[in-house]
Amino acid sequence: MTFLFVRISNSDSVTDQSRQYEDALKVMDLLLLHRGCAHEFLENHFGGPLKRSMSASVAGSLGAAAAAHEQENGGCGGACWVCRRRAGGDGGGESPKPISREGTVEVLSSCAFLGGWMAAAKVVDVLYLNKERVWGAHAGAGLKDAHRLVLQLVAAKILGFKVETSSDKKKMSSVLLNWRTVATTVRVGGGVVKRHVGALFRSHLEDSRWGGIGLAVTEF
Ligand SMILES: [Zn+2]
Repeated sequence: MTFLFVRISNSDSVTDQSRQYEDALKVMDLLLLHRGCAHEFLENHFGGPLKRSMSASVAGSLGAAAAAHEQENGGCGGACWVCRRRAGGDGGGESPKPISREGTVEVLSSCAFLGGWMAAAKVVDVLYLNKERVWGAHAGAGLKDAHRLVLQLVAAKILGFKVETSSDKKKMSSVLLNWRTVATTVRVGGGVVKRHVGALFRSHLEDSRWGGIGLAVTEF
C-alpha cells in the first residue's frame, strides 16, 4: 500500500492524484472487503457508461449454467472467490478472522490516534500488540492479520490516509493513518462548501462502513 500511495502522491496533477487514489481504494475494496460478487463489483465500478446487465456481459461468457445460477442466486455462480466462498467452497487463501468492532475502535482510539496521525506500520503494530482485544484471546491472530485489517479499514474508508514526504535528502515517504472524517456540505453565505467535520462525526461510527469487514457475532 505504501508503495502504491507514495507513487500516486508523486504524480503532478492534483486531479489526477485524487482520481488515482479513488481507483486504488476501489480495487482495495474489491480485494479486501467481501461485500458481494466480484464480477458484479467490477461491472458496477468499472463497467462502461452504457451499462449492460451482469448476465449479458459476464455470466454470458461463463456459460449457460452460471447464467442460470445467477438468475436464481445473484452473483456469478461461483466463478469469483466471493461467490465460491459463499457457496461453501474455498475462496482461495484463508478467510479473515472475525474481529470485535468495539475492541478495534477502542484500541485504535486509545493507543494509535489519540495523538493524531500515525504511520501505517505503527498502526499494524498497535493492533497486533492488542490482538486479544481485536480478535479475541483464542483466534491466534498474527502480524499478517493485523496488516490485512489495516488495509481493510482503509478500503472501507474507516481510516483516512495521507502521504508525507520528509524534507531530508533521502526523500523518504510514509503513509500516515487516522480516523477518516466525514465530509459534509455546509452552507456559507450563498454558496455550498464541502467541509470535513471533526471528532464527533468520525466515519468509524457509521455502521454501513463496517459491512465488508468480518465482525465477530458476539463481542469478546
Ligand atoms: Zn461472483
